[in-house]
Order: sequence, then C-alpha cells, then structure tokens
Amino acid sequence: MTEAAATKEEGRVRASEISRGFKYEVSKVHGGEKLLKCFQCGTCTSDCPIARFSDAYRPRQIIRMAQIGLKEKVLSSDTLWLCASCFTCTDRCPQDVEVANVIRVLRNLAAQQGYIPRVFKELSSAILETGYAYKIPDLRIKKREEQGLPSLPKGDPESLGKTLQKTFFLRLMEKKVE
Ligand code: SF4
Ligand code: SF4
Repeated sequence: MTEAAATKEEGRVRASEISRGFKYEVSKVHGGEKLLKCFQCGTCTSDCPIARFSDAYRPRQIIRMAQIGLKEKVLSSDTLWLCASCFTCTDRCPQDVEVANVIRVLRNLAAQQGYIPRVFKELSSAILETGYAYKIPDLRIKKREEQGLPSLPKGDPESLGKTLQKTFFLRLMEKKVE
C-alpha cells in the first residue's frame, strides 16, 4: 500500500468505531454542554498556539471526532493532552463552544478509562515522591553543595500524598486501559 493510500485508509471511519451516545456523554458533563454547537469553522485550530507548532494537534478535529462518536479514537489519542489550556479558542469560537473546557472534559474521560500519557504519570510519581513535579538529580544537589550554594527547599510529599489519597487522583494514576 502506498503512503497516500495508507493515510486515506487511516482517516476512514468505520461504523463499528462509532459510539452514538458519546456526544451526549460529553454534553452532560459540566464544560462539555456546547459540544454540539460547533459548525466546524476551524477558527479554534487557526488561532491555537499549539496547532501552530504541531501538525498533529487540531482542536477542530478533536471536537468533530467527539461529535460523531469516535470515542476510543479521541480518548486514546495522546494529542488530546497537548492542549495548553490557554483559552484562545474559547475566546474566539463564534459558536461559544468553550473548546478548552470540552477538551478538559475529554481528558477527564480519557483518564477515567486509563488513557494517561506516560509523561504525566512520571510527573505525578515525582510529585508524590518529592513534592515537586521535577525530581532534582542527586548529582545536581551535590554540585550545589560543592559550589557552596544553599540547599533547595524541601517539598512535602507526605501531606500531599495524604491529600491526594482522599481524591480520585491516585486511583486514576494506577488505572490501566480498560
Ligand atoms: S471555533 Fe468553534 S465553531 Fe469553529 S471549529 Fe472551533 S469549536 Fe467549532
Ligand atoms: S486552549 Fe488548547 S486548544 Fe484552545 S487555543 Fe489554547 S492550546 Fe489550543
């Protein structure tokens, strides 16, 4: 199969992939109510700062996939997590779709099904272990000491862990794809 044919095949939607109720599932959640108002003008994509740098990231496409019910495809897509929540799309959408909120709803649904990209799982492990999203390497701490720099402030992973224990966060992080 040629590359062009493979791309065409990839973009094809099969009836078996469609979950008819998905658009209602999204619309029922706070923030996703206006999903069906999108008329695919493309303003969100053309103004999105992330879409400018990544050809794979197209908010208009994400909204369309959710509208037609491509549930697994949209929830399992790593590109869903590229949104920087800058709200430019929300400000500029002529249909008042609140695109950034719809994407947040989709990400939450994805997380509930175990679709969380590895990088976010690693960040959350670092937070739980050290209290910071970035685990500072021992070598860097040693170098600071050698250079007479003051120690870095310590995080408080224990109290953070206790708080997170009371939320769904830890369960979500451990969840495997269903
Ligand atoms: S700007 Fe609004 S109406 Fe236009 S494609 Fe994006 S979500 Fe749809
Ligand atoms: S909120 Fe997300 S989708 Fe909307 S413009 Fe910003 S990065 Fe793009």
